[in-house]
Amino acid sequence: MIIQLHPDIPQSEAERLARSVAAFYVHDGEKQLLVTSSSEKSLHPTLERFAKSHWVADSDIQLSSRSYRAENRITRMGDIELGNGLNTVVIGGPCSVENESQIRSAAQLVKDNGLHIFRAGAFKPRTSPYTFQGLGMEGLELLEMVRAEYGLRIITEVKDSSHVEAVIETADIIQIGAKAMYDHSILHACGESRKPVLIKRGFGTTLQEFAQAAEFILSKGNMQVMLCERGIRSFETKTRFTLDLCGAAWLKHACNLPIILDPSHAMGYAYGVPDLARACMAMGVDGLLIETHPEPAKALSDASQQLNPSEFTALVASLHPIAKAIDRKLI
Ligand code: PEP
Ligand code: MN
Repeated sequence: MIIQLHPDIPQSEAERLARSVAAFYVHDGEKQLLVTSSSEKSLHPTLERFAKSHWVADSDIQLSSRSYRAENRITRMGDIELGNGLNTVVIGGPCSVENESQIRSAAQLVKDNGLHIFRAGAFKPRTSPYTFQGLGMEGLELLEMVRAEYGLRIITEVKDSSHVEAVIETADIIQIGAKAMYDHSILHACGESRKPVLIKRGFGTTLQEFAQAAEFILSKGNMQVMLCERGIRSFETKTRFTLDLCGAAWLKHACNLPIILDPSHAMGYAYGVPDLARACMAMGVDGLLIETHPEPAKALSDASQQLNPSEFTALVASLHPIAKAIDRKLI
């Protein structure tokens, strides 16, 4: 249940009320809300005189539900908006930060393509312990350099709670990876932060569980959460994962958060990424996440799926007319 309190109730009083009924106290724009797990139709008697209105969820998808709030929740970074229904933001960059020259060429490529958000991981949640695990703090410093020298916004991922504060400090958008999606210490820290968060769907996660993970962040008062579909596991082995576009359609329909699609991790092979990315753009989502590397064959992680610079440039050029056809602006 979401209870909207009368606006003249002082915050201290609202917080006391929240504690008395074991509710979350959330500022949602101008509104003061209490969010509880209750699915009763009627209000708790102690709340009746404080409530302006209340809404009962049919599942624990609450603050992100369109049936609670039909309008999109927009993530804003300066003049860049994600989720406003007008933009599709292409986020480009390599899988990992590897070294200064690699990160500089990738950043230059993203900038030359007229894009604004640069991705690269410094802490990599790899499947094998014997492979490159990321540069860690040194990688974050290189990303700071990219922001300062290339004027790009940075999205980088958090792998575990040991470095969550450092990533929150550095990133313009904090990425919670598919494997970290259930890590409650990360969800908690991101909820306490006021920086935008992009949460990736675990490959064995239902849409309900995915939206509920986002609710952990929203219920702490951080309303700038984006949902990223990056492929789920199916019986198929020819592709790395299966991009769940039906799931993306459901998320668009049921959730008010920006939707980002990641064809790179879903496909796992560069040959399929441009076609998939165009299909994703045609769906009218809020963002695409595409991996690109100056020399994909030498990449230290996800080598097979990263586009080389000319493939990336050709792809971005081909996305513009699709964006135009669906009345969106590619930024
Ligand atoms: C990534 O974005 O490089 C990544 C590790 O993605 P995922 O968490 O979706 O596997
Ligand atoms: Mn990757």
